[in-house]
Amino acid sequence: MRPNTLYIVVPCYNEEAVLPETARRLRQKLEELTRLGQISPRSRVLFVNDGSQDGTWMLIQALHAQCELFSGVDLSRNRGHQNALLAGLMTAKDRCDMVISMDADLQDDVEAVDAMVEKYHAGCDVVYGVRASRKKDSFFKRFTAEGFYRVMNALGAETVFNHADYRLMSRAALEGLAQFKEVNLFLRGIVPLIGYTSATVEYERGERFAGESKYPLKKMVSFALEGITSLSTRPIRIITGLGVLVFFVSLAMLVVFVVQWALGMTVQGWASVVCSVWAIGGLILLALGVVGEYIGKIYLETKGRPRFLIREILADEEER
Ligand code: UDP
Ligand code: MG
Repeated sequence: MRPNTLYIVVPCYNEEAVLPETARRLRQKLEELTRLGQISPRSRVLFVNDGSQDGTWMLIQALHAQCELFSGVDLSRNRGHQNALLAGLMTAKDRCDMVISMDADLQDDVEAVDAMVEKYHAGCDVVYGVRASRKKDSFFKRFTAEGFYRVMNALGAETVFNHADYRLMSRAALEGLAQFKEVNLFLRGIVPLIGYTSATVEYERGERFAGESKYPLKKMVSFALEGITSLSTRPIRIITGLGVLVFFVSLAMLVVFVVQWALGMTVQGWASVVCSVWAIGGLILLALGVVGEYIGKIYLETKGRPRFLIREILADEEER
């Protein structure tokens, strides 16, 4: 059997409403798997407090004081889900053999952990949690979310369909992840690039147990843009192609007009002229915007700012 210390990493932003229940269920799960000999007794739940304004960190401290199964990382400020998750993964990397990342709100079915650990023992380094269905989502959420994966893939950002950030990674995969230095972080796009043996596990995604979603539509859109532009340069290609196409269209129009002029037909129709001016103007602005988006990324990457800063780590004495 492979070495088997499991860390469950849970990013938390203002999650005081769900945290006690999440902690209870994760503790149960760890104890059960330990009893079955699937994981070692040194396994832990690692909560990452992403600069919450409520009592989340106090709760995590209390949990840690109560039970050794709980540990925590306190970030210096709110850095967003992806960075908080990375902070947790990088903290866990040197302490365990496998990590499972999971949301705090119990939308990711805790029961799928068993299957993930099983796949790990069978030799997988990455196990993706994939949603079996989206029946419980509203039509709007389902439509936007599934559209998100389709658009992403069409634009060259390869991701696993219906997989969010519920996944198991082995130590080897984490070492691989540590070598990706990008500041514009989109983990579900980076993890497939790491390679190694992978598998998927299906699970039913429930509703948020308590509290509110921290991902309003605005954040979702910017997350999608982040995903596309940080993973692929295909949008720039598309724009180049569009430019070439428009150029040929204008050439064809020129030919048509010359022929019409030679035949003595007067050219009428301001509308079409104005329309095409607007269309071209729009395309140019769009193109500039996309290019600007990438230049912005380059700017941020060259700064090489830290992706997260840790204020405090709660862990067992010898691991601190
Ligand atoms: N989260 C975070 N930092 C943030 C926003 C969210 O760590 O700035 C965490 C949050 O606590 C939760 C996970 O990311 O554990 C997913 O957030 P949420 O459930 O609100 O997103 P949704 O499921 O609605 O897309
Ligand atoms: Mg959620």
